[in-house]
Amino acid sequence: MADANTILDSKLREIFGYTSFNPHQREIIKTIRSGRDCLAILPTGSGKSLCYQLPAILSDDKLAIVVSPLISLMKDQVLQLNQLGEYAVLLNSSLSREDYRENLSRIVEGQVRILYVAPETLMKPHILDLLEGVTVSFLTIDEAHCISEWGHDFRPEYRQLATLRERFPGLPVLALTATATKRVREDIVKNLHMKNPALYVASFDRPNLFLEVEEKNSPFRQLTAFLEKFPDQSGIVYCASRKETEQIVGKLTKQGVSALPYHAGMSAEKRNRNQEAFIRDDVSIIVATIAFGMGINKPDVRFVVHYDLPKNIESYYQQIGRAGRDGLPAHCLLLLGYGDISKIRYFINQKEDEKEKRIANNQLSVMLGFAEATCCRRIPLLHYFGENYQKENCGACDNCLDGGRGEARDLTVEAQKFMSCVWRTGQMFGMGYIINVLRGSTEKRVVQNGHDKLSTWGIGKGHSKQAWQQLGRQLIAHGLLSQDPAYGGLKLTAAAWPVLRSGKSFLGQMNEGKKPEEARLKKAAALNREDVLADPATRNLFEELRQKRKELADEMGMPPYVVFSDRTLIEMAKYRPSTLAEMMEIHGVGAVKLERYGSIFLPIISK
Ligand code: ADP
Ligand code: ZN
Repeated sequence: MADANTILDSKLREIFGYTSFNPHQREIIKTIRSGRDCLAILPTGSGKSLCYQLPAILSDDKLAIVVSPLISLMKDQVLQLNQLGEYAVLLNSSLSREDYRENLSRIVEGQVRILYVAPETLMKPHILDLLEGVTVSFLTIDEAHCISEWGHDFRPEYRQLATLRERFPGLPVLALTATATKRVREDIVKNLHMKNPALYVASFDRPNLFLEVEEKNSPFRQLTAFLEKFPDQSGIVYCASRKETEQIVGKLTKQGVSALPYHAGMSAEKRNRNQEAFIRDDVSIIVATIAFGMGINKPDVRFVVHYDLPKNIESYYQQIGRAGRDGLPAHCLLLLGYGDISKIRYFINQKEDEKEKRIANNQLSVMLGFAEATCCRRIPLLHYFGENYQKENCGACDNCLDGGRGEARDLTVEAQKFMSCVWRTGQMFGMGYIINVLRGSTEKRVVQNGHDKLSTWGIGKGHSKQAWQQLGRQLIAHGLLSQDPAYGGLKLTAAAWPVLRSGKSFLGQMNEGKKPEEARLKKAAALNREDVLADPATRNLFEELRQKRKELADEMGMPPYVVFSDRTLIEMAKYRPSTLAEMMEIHGVGAVKLERYGSIFLPIISK
């Protein structure tokens, strides 16, 4: 056993340049190598591909078949894999006749270890005949939820795959998916005729994603303030309508921010072009409707902003999941607008079918349970996936950084200030407005309403906006304030008066001392660039390495991350390897990449 482990460890290092396995990878690899069927349910970014790539590469002379639904993803995988050695080919309808033939012959001659194939191509009689003639090591079904009608992405072609079990009876099957529900899981096992499969289910927590919700008051300003913290980094902004994507891109471009739109109203060609520009780091930001993200595998997306409320938590999770696949910290900001909620409610009410209406209402309330949570955001999010999140403080959501479930203190005076401001402004304004008045804002609306003359104007300057927001959320959560579900206007409830009139004490948390905004960023960036790259020399070096990477990638017509990941470049800039042997110690540098790129990057570092 120890022996098998040592071999896996050294191959992981030699071929992929990684020092250790991610959770479950080793067990899955061993299971499939032992010839047993295996179902693995792992979230995005957990390294599913390695689970079949490593055993495939280790099975000399044999061919592993990988079925995948999306051509763009297959292409990307083959590109990345072939940077490590010429291991893989692709068969699907997008290939020219010549390439198709060439790939077929490489398979027959046993030159490759992995065949990526679309399901309908695999089921063609001539391909099946051809595969009879080679030794197949195992069959991988990627995105295995596509076989289930209960999943979000049913593909009828996947159903045909079951007949493979008759044609290749002894062939072990590895099914991979990031979709967790029990029904889908059972469907996969049943429809693929899996035999006593080993089951691996990982937690759906993505600890490197920082989760934050802000009340939406001036969204574009909020967006640009957020973007300032991520200069030149890749990110996605999701919004609800095509028109809005175009408008936001227009305004960003005017401010010199590099952004392109992506939505279903554009021609396929233009969409592809924008997606490609994003993948190749020619543009930093994509402003998209939900149509964007399915076919891409970009590992270094550093932020996802939801400009509008997603309609359910499943799509929210999927969309934020596109950030931080490389395991480095990434930031997810959701702007919660009460107008958006009432818009969604309106559309739900238009539905004729009662059942549909009920489902949509449920989905909305689960989504709001997350967005309006005052506890750790991972609790409601993971609850949706049937997980019970236990940590005291996740360290990576706004609520936890605001103090988490720490000690409550006496906030009676602050609560009085907040609530009397609600009262004096006439109990019709939302949280953002109340806080502006408390903090003495001279914003047009405040002045027009004469609220700069109120006794409560400016009495809250001692606290940051975030601290007041935190208090406001607690007053709502404890039932002292009620919030208009459609517009977000705050009102006092009967429970408010004892605190306001007779000084009944109110206990809660408010972030004192540190500026939460800064604390938050520091925390989110701890592992990441900002810490390592705070040093100007290191940052300069990183930028130079990045430029070289882009140059090489452009020459080869590939995305930069195929050459090296950000993490690799950050480690190079930090540790400054001076020999090839030292270079090999860097994350993501295996034997082949060392040979290809080592001598190109070393001189930049030594200079
Ligand atoms: P998934 O398909 O589960 O979303 P991927 O297979 O695309 O995940 O892998 C996500 C990222 O993690 C990739 O950049 C991959 O190279 C990296 N990765 C995979 N396994 C490891 C590992 N053991 N150590 C470090 N990085 C890994
Ligand atoms: Zn948390």
